[in-house]
Amino acid sequence: MPRNADRDPVAPGLLALAAAADFSPLERGAGAALFDCQACGACCSYSAEWPRFSTEDDAQLDRIPQKFVAADESGMRCDGVRCSALSGEVGKHTACGIYDVRPDVCRACMPGGDDCLMARKAHGLPL
Ligand code: SF4
Ligand code: SF4
Repeated sequence: MPRNADRDPVAPGLLALAAAADFSPLERGAGAALFDCQACGACCSYSAEWPRFSTEDDAQLDRIPQKFVAADESGMRCDGVRCSALSGEVGKHTACGIYDVRPDVCRACMPGGDDCLMARKAHGLPL
């Protein structure tokens, strides 16, 4: 159980991570597309530094299976840039294995938001 998590109460979203790494700014596409997370998963496979735990309480973190938690308990364990709780193929069919108890930064990543669009762009998915 990740009781000793090195939580960062202001853990960055994907866009903030990208800005810190001096990545190219997002070019926002035109139009209001509808994004289907179950046919995407781009934001779950974008950075080895994400998602980190932030404002969760112990009870919430206790419900995340330890096998998905990073060794230092600061966030989810990633395989490369891919969150270990993600199943399926990015851009085709994906699922979060801990959806009901996913970290708060995952909940904050909204379909069609800047983080979402940046991740989708990185995977070559339509914006
Ligand atoms: S929030 Fe956006 S990038 Fe993340 S899975 Fe949903 S559509 Fe894909
Ligand atoms: S915990 Fe779930 S929603 Fe969050 S990055 Fe991992 S697979 Fe995606």
